Amino acid sequence: MEERKTVLVTGGSRGIGKEVALKFAEEGYDVIINYVSEKTDVEALKKEFEEKGAETLILKADVSKEVEVQEVIKQAIEKFGKIDVLVNNAGITRDNLLMRMSEEDFDKVLEINLKGTFIVTKAVTKYMMKKRSGSIINLSSVVGVSGNAGQCNYSASKAGIIGFTKSVAKELASRNIRANAVAPGFIETDMTNVLPENVKEEIHNQIPLKRMGSAKEVAELIYFLGSEKSSYITGQVINVDGGMVM
Ligand code: NAP
Repeated sequence: MEERKTVLVTGGSRGIGKEVALKFAEEGYDVIINYVSEKTDVEALKKEFEEKGAETLILKADVSKEVEVQEVIKQAIEKFGKIDVLVNNAGITRDNLLMRMSEEDFDKVLEINLKGTFIVTKAVTKYMMKKRSGSIINLSSVVGVSGNAGQCNYSASKAGIIGFTKSVAKELASRNIRANAVAPGFIETDMTNVLPENVKEEIHNQIPLKRMGSAKEVAELIYFLGSEKSSYITGQVINVDGGMVM
């Protein structure tokens, strides 16, 4: 019988991260997810994953805090012995125009989106290197490539993730570890639900496919990049955006 594989998805309690974790569970992976908000219904989440047949570990941890991340990885290794795929998905926005953006909002977004990706990747690759295999997928965004008014902190963090991904891909290729970035466009989740209708309408008009994407559509690409089907792909940034940025 083939050995079961394990995926760690940060911010797997909602939105894209949850769909990604559910996709891997459906495909026979065991799942580790983390979340940060007190409101998260851990028992209900656990049930959803277990119904897909996945052994599941759900832990509260802020990805920007190294000590908390190390505890997650410790427990994951104790339970599963390895992490085959890492999806650095946890992320936040604190949008504002440059002139109105506080230093605190700039720092917070960089800390969670970019430094969080660094902290988790460093902790997990220690085990991937020992195994000489692994796939890392980092959530960037089309605005990390194109920029976006009102998101200088967020787009800087997502551009940073692209440089980070390419460097890690070069550094770890000799250990058979791949690293790729996924750049979603405008995806229907809590993150985009807060936008006013007129802004959503404006964005729709900039998308050749004339609609928002679903978290499931992003999950399909991430699953492909995690699997052996993408064994010759590393250091790439792949958009999933209905043609928004070409
Ligand atoms: P979301 O619905 O707002 O969910 C965010 C997830 O991240 C939640 O699970 C949340 O946990 C977790 N999280 C937030 N801060 C965290 C922290 N400090 N430590 C650990 N977990 C944390 O977001 P989404 O729309 O699914 O986005 C997921 C990723 O895709 C993000 O990196 C985002 O930048 C990127 N992305 C999204 C879009 C889009 O249109 N939606 C487009 C491009 C890129 P709690 O549930 O505990 O709060």
